Amino acid sequence: MNIVLLGAPGAGKGTQAQRLVADYGVAHISTGDLLRAAVKARSELGVQAKVYMDAGQLVPDRLVIGLVKERLGQDDARRGFILDGFPRNTDQAVALDAALEAAGVALDVALLVDVAPQVIVDRLSSRRTCRDCGYTAGAAADACPRCGGEMYQRDDDRPETIKRRLDVYQGQTAPLAQYYDERGMLRRVDGDRPADEVYADVKELLSL
Ligand code: ADP
Ligand code: ZN
Repeated sequence: MNIVLLGAPGAGKGTQAQRLVADYGVAHISTGDLLRAAVKARSELGVQAKVYMDAGQLVPDRLVIGLVKERLGQDDARRGFILDGFPRNTDQAVALDAALEAAGVALDVALLVDVAPQVIVDRLSSRRTCRDCGYTAGAAADACPRCGGEMYQRDDDRPETIKRRLDVYQGQTAPLAQYYDERGMLRRVDGDRPADEVYADVKELLSL
């Protein structure tokens, strides 16, 4: 199964992706995680990307597309993959189609996790993320329930930056729903419910 997950920041894409990965052994390809790892490693790409990420803007396509192609080429992606946070604009979607076609791989579905903007602002403001494994949880947790790592508030989960990210989403990423709908690949789930209920719908939609 090869899936693109669409949805606003904080819609719960990462949570759904982590469950699918745990249950079905597909590769989780999160461009946010890949970029944060590059920032942490202080690679050249990381240094360049950080400026955009801290401002809540998209990292330039030439950096992100290369990163995704490299990751898709790794062995574990052959058993299937979930793209989380990519594509984020039409140029990235076109680049993805070309890369997959060249590799003889087809996308099965683009799954939109649908959540109202006000819910998003509340969720992101209280969200904490594990420094070591990227696990996300509400404000209560101080140690990561998955690996024991330190939970921290991402720089871009602060109120000023959240608004910018939502604007970027509305302007550049939301139109991708139409892109995939026109290709007969779009499915929606209502993300404004407990994660377990959303996951039940996800599995049903994917006929798992
Ligand atoms: P969220 O979905 O909560 O905004 P992500 O972890 O997916 O968080 O992304 C965090 C930041 O990383 C984005 O605001 C953006 O700066 C950068 N980023 C992630 N994916 C992409 C992408 N596909 N294209 C450009 N920038 C990206
Ligand atoms: Zn962790």
